Amino acid sequence: MALTIRRLLATQRPSFSFEFFPPKTDEGEQQLWQAIRDLEPLRPTFVDVTYGAGGSTRDRTLRVVERIANETDLTVVAHLTCVAVSREDVRATIRRFRDAGVRNVLALRGDMPGGPDVAWEAHDGGLHHAEDLVRLLHEEGDFCVGVAAFPEKHPEAADLATDVKYLAQKCAAGADFAITQFFFDPADYFRLVRSAREAGCTVPIIPGVMPVTNVRQIERFAALSGAAFPEDLAARLRAVQEDPQAVRAIGVEVATELAHGLLDGGAPGIHFYTLNRSTATRQIHARLNGS
Ligand SMILES: Cc1cc2nc3c(=O)[nH]c(=O)nc-3n(C[C@H](O)[C@H](O)[C@H](O)COP(=O)(O)OP(=O)(O)OC[C@H]3O[C@@H](n4cnc5c(N)ncnc54)[C@H](O)[C@@H]3O)c2cc1C
Repeated sequence: MALTIRRLLATQRPSFSFEFFPPKTDEGEQQLWQAIRDLEPLRPTFVDVTYGAGGSTRDRTLRVVERIANETDLTVVAHLTCVAVSREDVRATIRRFRDAGVRNVLALRGDMPGGPDVAWEAHDGGLHHAEDLVRLLHEEGDFCVGVAAFPEKHPEAADLATDVKYLAQKCAAGADFAITQFFFDPADYFRLVRSAREAGCTVPIIPGVMPVTNVRQIERFAALSGAAFPEDLAARLRAVQEDPQAVRAIGVEVATELAHGLLDGGAPGIHFYTLNRSTATRQIHARLNGS
């Protein structure tokens, strides 16, 4: 049976994990598998596969997760959202995951098909919050369940304290670990962890780091996620944006410094948003390991 992330995080410090998304095209599939093959020798604690916006990739997510489980030595986490589906449909997907041998799931609410700017409305007879999905997963099987956390608060939350209260509810519902949205200021991460502990959430909270390899892409992601994109970093990147190598070099330097600060301050590991590419992640990983 597949190992649980809970157990791996208890024994591997620091943990390193790599996030991938299920591609839509054959070319994307090749790029994904190249990245997986390039990153596998780093022996990450786990890798994870996202669930498409609007709940659009159930079959693709499952296919990638199954192929990683069958063709590599990697421990894999499948993301799952509650968007645009009834409780019974989510239950059916959980059963498919279970029957395919998926043991580790990141339980997410997701955003509306129109994107995070569209006000959230639960599907008729569907789940309202990630917390409900955590409970449903535990009802359906022996899953190890992760949840999302937000160092700069979730964009819909009135303030960090309110958001952390709900993170603590996800933990009380049975979450085993949390992974954060990407961010650029380590102080935001440490403030989140302190608040979560005060609210009674004791699970490992793994900081998410997005290596900047493309200025426009990261600005778009930051706008969607609500993460602040630091002006000084934006200015440094814009100054070299015609030179992809120079952009990557700055991205690697900034992400390495951030990851060092996080690990030195006691973070349990680093979660890399790879965007299905390996070069920047490999360079940062090598620097963190002193090579
Ligand atoms: C690590 C990570 C991975 C992600 N992967 C994916 C992915 O694969 N696919 C995808 O579509 N999206 C993904 N997302 C994005 C995520 O789905 C969105 O950010 C979504 O808006 C929030 O999801 P959540 O699980 O945090 O929701 P929730 O925990 O339900 O929180 C959503 C909002 O509701 C509030 N809230 C929570 N519980 C309650 C409650 N009980 N009562 C009242 N309010 C409550 C929270 O404060 C927050 O403002 C990911 C995000 C992260 C950080």
